[in-house]
Amino acid sequence: MPKRIQTIRGFRDILPQEAQKWWYVERTARDVFSLFGFREVKLPILEQTALFARSIGETTDIVEKEMYSFQDKGGDNVSLRPEATASIVRMFIQHSLYQQPLAAKLFTIGPMFRRERPQKGRYRQFYQIDAEMFGFERPLADAEMIFMLTTILNQLKVAEYDLHLNSLGCPQCRQAFKEALKRFLEDKHQKLCPDCQRRRLLNPLRVFDCKSEGCKEVLKEAPLITQYLCQDCKTHFESLKGYLEAFGIAYLLDPYLVRGLDYYTRTIFEVTIPGIGAQSAVAGGGRYDNLIEVLGGRSTPAIGFAIGMDRLLPCVPDPDKEARPIFLALLGEEAVKIGLKWVQFLRKVGIWTEIDYRLGSLKSQLNRANHLKAKFCLIIGEDEIKKGKAILRDMDTKEQLNVALEPNSEIIEKLKGGKN
Ligand SMILES: [Zn+2]
Ligand SMILES: [Zn+2]
Repeated sequence: MPKRIQTIRGFRDILPQEAQKWWYVERTARDVFSLFGFREVKLPILEQTALFARSIGETTDIVEKEMYSFQDKGGDNVSLRPEATASIVRMFIQHSLYQQPLAAKLFTIGPMFRRERPQKGRYRQFYQIDAEMFGFERPLADAEMIFMLTTILNQLKVAEYDLHLNSLGCPQCRQAFKEALKRFLEDKHQKLCPDCQRRRLLNPLRVFDCKSEGCKEVLKEAPLITQYLCQDCKTHFESLKGYLEAFGIAYLLDPYLVRGLDYYTRTIFEVTIPGIGAQSAVAGGGRYDNLIEVLGGRSTPAIGFAIGMDRLLPCVPDPDKEARPIFLALLGEEAVKIGLKWVQFLRKVGIWTEIDYRLGSLKSQLNRANHLKAKFCLIIGEDEIKKGKAILRDMDTKEQLNVALEPNSEIIEKLKGGKN
């Protein structure tokens, strides 16, 4: 026997039962996006490596260690996208979407790729729901984005989550902070892990991404960005907090929150769910007022967030209503022909309809109906054809009633009720 081929380490299949919940989460997000006027875009999964190196930052963990980067057969340096923001920004610039009002608010849903160490709740191909808003500098945009994110979580009935909030300031105030942080870290060099010893010189802010206990201990005494905010950044942050309070959104101020990307400015936020283990962040985002310019576009303020679907899904309760089909039990070729008219008719009005392609005995067809959790079964056999009446059987109550043999709208309401 030939050797069976399995998924690559860190990758996984999503089987039908689970995929149904994915669909439910995506649909809920799409519904909320349309309430906020966000429109969908679809983007390539493969991009030039330079896009991510320039946006996320050369010295971030993502670009240094985690990207799937390779030379394709034509010699181009390409990467599987590790996140969506850089690609949306590239698209925004490439198609000059600056003046199009409908391009100001965009979302996309799809897979991202990072070669991280596989562990519980972490996959090398993971899925994100990603939303971005372009062109608005004022903190009302930030508040609206956070409100949209919490609306999605609330619609999905995610019971308990924390919203962490911080400001990273603008390049001016961050420069002062970086200097202070560099000075602070100088004589702590020996206490830092080898990664952070390198980060200290190249990009000191990234020390805050470190997961090592020793580095975390050192950072307890470190200066905090919030102490260095300039007046404009301070005012921006204060107004945002005021708007969140007006929306009734609870938040936790978290001065250690930096998120592992270089492009953020001012507002950053993260949603964590307590009690789900080390990978507790299920969503996060922030403002990136300079990224569009960095990638060669016209200066445009922007803010976005991403929801990690793989981590969020286990925290989403199953939807109350499970769809259930109508099953047609058909006995004999003549019944099949009448049945096919029903199949067409029912599906046309939006009712999920199933038949047994094996056309077995009545007993085996009813068994099949039970396996599919059918709410109703429409039975047509020789007797029914003779009498000119089909039997409609309620699979829960076992109650049966006679209905017209040919498709008719009389029982639609009853069948539609059966979907619930
Ligand atoms: Zn500032
Ligand atoms: Zn470290």
